[in-house]
Amino acid sequence: MLKVASGFIILLLLVGCNQKSGGEVPIKIFQSVDEREAILLQEGKEKRSCHVCGMDLVKFYKTSHSAEENGKNYQYCSIHCLENHLQKGVSLRNPKVVDIVSLKFIDASKAFYVVGSNKRATMSRVSKYAFLHESDAKFFQAQFGGEIMNFENALQKAKEDFKSHQ
Ligand SMILES: [Zn+2]
Repeated sequence: MLKVASGFIILLLLVGCNQKSGGEVPIKIFQSVDEREAILLQEGKEKRSCHVCGMDLVKFYKTSHSAEENGKNYQYCSIHCLENHLQKGVSLRNPKVVDIVSLKFIDASKAFYVVGSNKRATMSRVSKYAFLHESDAKFFQAQFGGEIMNFENALQKAKEDFKSHQ
């Protein structure tokens, strides 16, 4: 009788533990947003997938980039896939990035990138998040670390990651 009772208590404890650690839903990570908040700039069946790696753009929305190629908009999960695509020698126009505060696309050339913070990275070991306002970038940097730089330098960092992977 005692044995049954203690087994029951252990079971209850296990259930309790599961509930506690179940706070993080596996599909939703720092980069994720609600589907209704994500802006998809591509058309067609593949519009929710990164143009290079096919990863889900809603799941990796906060690191999403876009650029025009032959007059059409394409969207990427990260600056890495954008850089990867650039390495094929294509010319991309009008690069844009998500401002993680407003969740809207902004001109990448005007964005403030925080590179190397302790917030999770997409397709890289080095995290990169973009902001419209320098003050927001500084606030993020004060909490999570990293270095503030412009698009060109962030792209350069992405390029270096490719080298270290090879
Ligand atoms: Zn990608």
